[in-house]
Amino acid sequence: MRPSPASALKLLNQRVIDCRLCPRLVAHREQIARDKRRAYLNWTYWGRPVPSFGDMAARLLLIGLAPGAHGANRTGRMFTGDRSGDFLYRALFETGFASQPQSVAKDDGLTLTDAYITAPVRCAPPDNKPQRDEILRCRPYFEQELALLRNVKVIVPLGGIALDAYLCILQDKNLIASRSAFRFGHGVEFETHTGGPRLLCCYHPSQQNTSTGRLTARMLTEIFERARAMIESSQTPVRTHLAHHDRP
Ligand code: SF4
Repeated sequence: MRPSPASALKLLNQRVIDCRLCPRLVAHREQIARDKRRAYLNWTYWGRPVPSFGDMAARLLLIGLAPGAHGANRTGRMFTGDRSGDFLYRALFETGFASQPQSVAKDDGLTLTDAYITAPVRCAPPDNKPQRDEILRCRPYFEQELALLRNVKVIVPLGGIALDAYLCILQDKNLIASRSAFRFGHGVEFETHTGGPRLLCCYHPSQQNTSTGRLTARMLTEIFERARAMIESSQTPVRTHLAHHDRP
């Protein structure tokens, strides 16, 4: 008997956690976990691939980039334990998608309702920059997840790399002819293919963006307010229509 989507997602997350396919990233994530940051010397760093997080029946899907070295790579939960996460979860809380505004540790009680967070790369990359081959290697996890998240109506890619990672999958499935028709811009919204989730682009809540004012708290909250309105206004159930591909 095939497992339910929720069970399959849990199994997938377990496979992610055990993954060691990218030598550079495995070495980096484990080195960070050994060296630690002075402020976190008492922590046992996670130091492994970070599984996705949230409500498996979500209608809103957030796509990040990769775990932060001393955030998710330390705590083991996406966007948890660094300033990017502080920014993101506060906005999700204010718009009713998160149960609390802070996300500091895996066991802090935070839950998401109607939202799910994933990333095209699950291991912390040096300088926050994954290489193309690493994105490709991690892609089957992302792709399988998209197939299992059957209620998604709105996708918020957090940054251009997140958008491109998603579009690459659509292009390979012949759901779109080209990626260049969909250009990233904060607040830009589009439909990629008939019956697919709508996309609403958002700057990544990296410190580089938030400390410079490129992305403000208000701008981020407005994105999730819009996402909620888009979800509520969609009339028909929408699926990603992506086939389930097992890792060879
Ligand atoms: Fe595995 Fe993805 Fe981490 Fe590479 S980035 S080691 S494919 S989990």
